Amino acid sequence: MSSLADIFRRLIATTGPISLAHYMAESNAHYYAEQKPIGGQDADFITAPEISQMFGELVGLWLADMWDRAGRPDPVLYIELGPGRGTLARDALRVMARQGLVPQVHLVETSPAMRAAQLAAVPGATHHHDLSSLPDDGPILLVANEFLDALPVRQLVKTDDGWREVMVGVDPAGQFIEMPGRQPMDSAVSEAHRDAPPGTVIETSPACAAVATEVAGLLAQQGGAALFMDYGHADGRAGSSLQAVRGHEKLGVFDAPGEADLSAHVHFAQIAEVASSNGGRVLGTTTQGAWLAALGIEQRAEALAKSAPQHREAVMQAKRRLTAPDQMGELFKVMGLAGTDWPEGAGFAHKSSLWS
Ligand code: SAH
Repeated sequence: MSSLADIFRRLIATTGPISLAHYMAESNAHYYAEQKPIGGQDADFITAPEISQMFGELVGLWLADMWDRAGRPDPVLYIELGPGRGTLARDALRVMARQGLVPQVHLVETSPAMRAAQLAAVPGATHHHDLSSLPDDGPILLVANEFLDALPVRQLVKTDDGWREVMVGVDPAGQFIEMPGRQPMDSAVSEAHRDAPPGTVIETSPACAAVATEVAGLLAQQGGAALFMDYGHADGRAGSSLQAVRGHEKLGVFDAPGEADLSAHVHFAQIAEVASSNGGRVLGTTTQGAWLAALGIEQRAEALAKSAPQHREAVMQAKRRLTAPDQMGELFKVMGLAGTDWPEGAGFAHKSSLWS
């Protein structure tokens, strides 16, 4: 069977350079369909819900609290985008059930391998290929952890001839190389960046913006609340953030297409802007560390350690990994959205601090 690298080489030989966004989309579709990327030692990377059950539990508590203060609507839909092994859904749903919240479960996932894992963790869940087929008969409680970072980014580079899209071509030795596209892209660049010096790269994600638009539309139509959790920054800084990871190690973006996870920083300011102009209410954006602390991870860790003293060290280490500024606490952000008549969200009290 041809490797994805060979398929790309043939495609580029036939049609010319492809956009970096196309390269990323195809690489990740291939990667998530065939690899076992997330979780233990032999996996490529580990995510917050795989570090500790505390993460999914606090997400479940946040959703149950929103639902409770919104008057306990019924029916209500739990929706997760890119649920990986289904661990977050399982932990969140367990806690929600204890609060009397038993939603219908709808999972948006393209990978057959991931779908199978999710059904084992959450039997009875309904799968969707994208957001367009989600039911419209109840408010939504939506979660997406490390989903947006896997969606394709588009990069634009300033050349001596103006802004161009970053394309992927092949050099005479058969290596993938980046090159500016032929078509002028100046109109796609905001006023703030237009006069940047040659060589400047800016990154946008039309795919993330499309998801934010759709989620905001669901919140406006059906009510509910949503949490986007991912690594990224609040402002729209310049530069490429695209990276490849395999076996917990970074490698070059073009080293192993389809065999490494490609991800990029999420531009939360862009998500907020798109969501609010499409009917979503932004509750705030904060760091994962501050959000988990506000939701009581300290107390949850103590309770877990008391009930299983032999695991105290592991529980405290997991808590540190999720919250410490030099671990996931600062780089990872949590953004809350809600429908118009829904309450404010716990943990977003300092929402203005990231934006000042
Ligand atoms: N949320 C999980 C997994 C994160 S990895 C966790 O925190 O552990 C990204 C997930 O999104 C995987 O399940 C992957 O298969 C899925 N995914 C990636 N691109 C997607 C797309 N375009 N549509 C739907 N799911 C996608």
